Amino acid sequence: MEQRLQAGLTALGLPAEGGPSLLRYGELLVETNKVMNLTAITDPEEIASLHFLDSAALLTLEDFRNKSVVDVGTGAGFPGLPLRILEPTIRLTLLDSLGKRIQFLNRVCQELELTDVACVHGRAEEFAAEHRESFDLAVSRAVAALPVLCELCLPLVRPGGKFLAMKSVDSDQELEAAKHAIETLGGAVSGVRDYEIPGTEVRHRLILVEKVKKTPEKYPRMFAKIKKNPL
Ligand code: SAM
Repeated sequence: MEQRLQAGLTALGLPAEGGPSLLRYGELLVETNKVMNLTAITDPEEIASLHFLDSAALLTLEDFRNKSVVDVGTGAGFPGLPLRILEPTIRLTLLDSLGKRIQFLNRVCQELELTDVACVHGRAEEFAAEHRESFDLAVSRAVAALPVLCELCLPLVRPGGKFLAMKSVDSDQELEAAKHAIETLGGAVSGVRDYEIPGTEVRHRLILVEKVKKTPEKYPRMFAKIKKNPL
């Protein structure tokens, strides 16, 4: 894992200082995954590529310095925690509706002495009641289809901020289907960037949605409604 990580960080033009913390995080992930369902990826080399370097690649596509960032449906911490390890000026909130995953993340943060990272057990659509439009950036990977995901994430972003959705390169139709939701929620697509995870042939996509105006108060709706009737 160590070599793959270091080569990948170098290829991305990122400093290697975060390497040891990522390695320890990887060990905790592999160890805890034996007793708790955290990730389907168990091979350390694949964890390095498909979790750590995939997350790290975002630092080459957006300026995260000194930004408040919420990772919606973070699971075992992706992409938020690698971003924070590699860019320590990020003020990070990790949000997930599964308490056990948040317990794991609290343990990782304690071990890595990331005392200022907020690990929050909650649902995005409920979290928005108290944290509406309070983040510079929202990020999310593998949580829901884009029309649903936009309603979970865009209400959390301040006007002038961005929502960054990690998607596959064949997400053209999904993006097309989300156009109405994006506009309704006060967003506008500001970029679609495909990237390759270094050391692999895996190509992924980052969809950047700028928050151009406030989200109407009636959004987000309760999850049952979002799911039944996506915007
Ligand atoms: N983002 C991580 C990754 O890419 O490895 C985890 C992806 S996992 C497939 C989806 C995660 O989203 C789960 O941990 C689930 O508990 C969480 N989730 C789903 N709906 C959510 C919601 N409405 N609010 C917060 N978390 C949610």
